[in-house]
Amino acid sequence: MDAVNGQGNKGETGEAAAQALEARLGQDIVVRGPDVLAYCRDWHGDVQSDAVAVLRPRTTAEVQECVRAAVDLGLQIIPQGGNTGLVLGGVPDAPDRQVVVSLERMTAVRSLDAANFSAVVEAGIVLEEFKDKVAQAGLYFPLALGAQGSCRLGGNVATNAGGVNVLRYGMTRELLLGLEVVLPDGSLFEGLTCLRKDNRGIDLKQLFIGSEGTLGIITAVSVKLFPAPEQVATALLAVGSLEDAIALYRQARRLCCDLMSAFEFMPPSAFQLAKEGIPDLALPMAAEHPAYVLMELSGSGLVDIDDLMARFTEHAFEEGLAVDGVMASSQAQARNLWLIREGMNEGQAKRGKHLRTDISVPLSRMAEFVAEAEAAILAEFPGATCVSYGHVGDGNVHLNVLPDTRGDVEAQIYRAKQIANEVLDRYDGSISAEHGIGRLKKADFEQRLPDVQRALLEAIRTAVDPALTMNRGCQIEL
Ligand SMILES: Cc1cc2nc3c(=O)[nH]c(=O)nc-3n(C[C@H](O)[C@H](O)[C@H](O)COP(=O)(O)OP(=O)(O)OC[C@H]3O[C@@H](n4cnc5c(N)ncnc54)[C@H](O)[C@@H]3O)c2cc1C
Repeated sequence: MDAVNGQGNKGETGEAAAQALEARLGQDIVVRGPDVLAYCRDWHGDVQSDAVAVLRPRTTAEVQECVRAAVDLGLQIIPQGGNTGLVLGGVPDAPDRQVVVSLERMTAVRSLDAANFSAVVEAGIVLEEFKDKVAQAGLYFPLALGAQGSCRLGGNVATNAGGVNVLRYGMTRELLLGLEVVLPDGSLFEGLTCLRKDNRGIDLKQLFIGSEGTLGIITAVSVKLFPAPEQVATALLAVGSLEDAIALYRQARRLCCDLMSAFEFMPPSAFQLAKEGIPDLALPMAAEHPAYVLMELSGSGLVDIDDLMARFTEHAFEEGLAVDGVMASSQAQARNLWLIREGMNEGQAKRGKHLRTDISVPLSRMAEFVAEAEAAILAEFPGATCVSYGHVGDGNVHLNVLPDTRGDVEAQIYRAKQIANEVLDRYDGSISAEHGIGRLKKADFEQRLPDVQRALLEAIRTAVDPALTMNRGCQIEL
């Protein structure tokens, strides 16, 4: 998508539509003018667009009214949560015919049921706020990602977000019990059940999970909750290679039962990038080893997690899989270790435009894939830097490329992505492990989409949304 700079792109038709929306919905709901721009740029700041208006409903009924008003004016709708998505799914691309519907004012926890380990919550709540509220009730909601201070639960559902705890608790899909969704004609899909088992035919809520706002606006969510992990042990281990990291992961799965909650892989450049992202970050060891693993074990009740971590790391050193390491002895130290992982994203963003990928391959082929793809990219761009890291336990790697700033940055990003995808195709991998398709990956997705799948996707989209009101330019071209 081309960057569209500033307002004015919406033109007279857009301005007339904004006025009509305000007349119908009121000033409290409709944002017009320059304030719209803040909702129309992506998290990295690579793209700045515009929209007719931003609608900020407070209730499900108001969302229905917003949808009906947009439909009556022939406008398309872009649902938006925290706008932290990395594939431009929530960023408008037709400023004169699109409205953003932001869920940011729908943040209520409707019920929190400790006896049934479940909660019903509005889709606009910020993930971290929800996790805190659940923690106050002595329970745990395991979805955890670097953007959790800004992303919203509806956005997490719409993208089927992953994050660092997937290897233990699954992706967002596995954490959901039910959904409430305003459909493209303004009607309401009422599916907020808290039942664990419900096999009454096709599970319709699955359609909306990962749909990236193309089928409706998720207004509320019922989710599973878990016992709070009262004990958490975190270790940063230096390893000899990605192969060793994967061997270590396999051993941890066998030896630590199902108590491993995170296993993240980082290259040595993570330390430097994290420092650039968070300048006062204290680094616990020198970046002199080929690779690092951030590992977390957690549990509650009668299990001794610290002892399990101590015995596992001892085993890792004996086997020669770990060559150095630190184990956090306080929550503050554990937080500091996690800041390295989170800070490296910010460090990359500070370096400017770069290639970000979100690839998955079978775990058994990951090391081979990363070596082959990095070598192919560096053969063409020797001055570029490859930063491969991620949720290795899930076979998910972010093979990012920081271009050589002495060359044409855009051209390097474009070509490096082509190379990574060509290698990936030989490994039967996915171009989107967890971020979705949005607008950014549409062409690459469609290029690899078998005819039958495409026909099914089209049939579903046009059946639910015949007028193509919802996030039209997202996922596939219609
Ligand atoms: C620093 C950082 C770290 C990240 N780490 C991870 C990670 O580890 N794992 C991961 O999976 N992702 C990660 N992401 C990506 C992003 O945070 C997730 O995709 C997140 O789920 C998006 O939520 P959001 O509320 O910001 O959604 P938005 O960006 O607002 O929207 C994303 C998509 O969902 C749609 N949408 C939003 N809300 C609704 C709704 N209520 N109803 C219908 N459609 C809706 C939008 O139209 C858009 O297509 C990261 C992002 C950043 C910036």
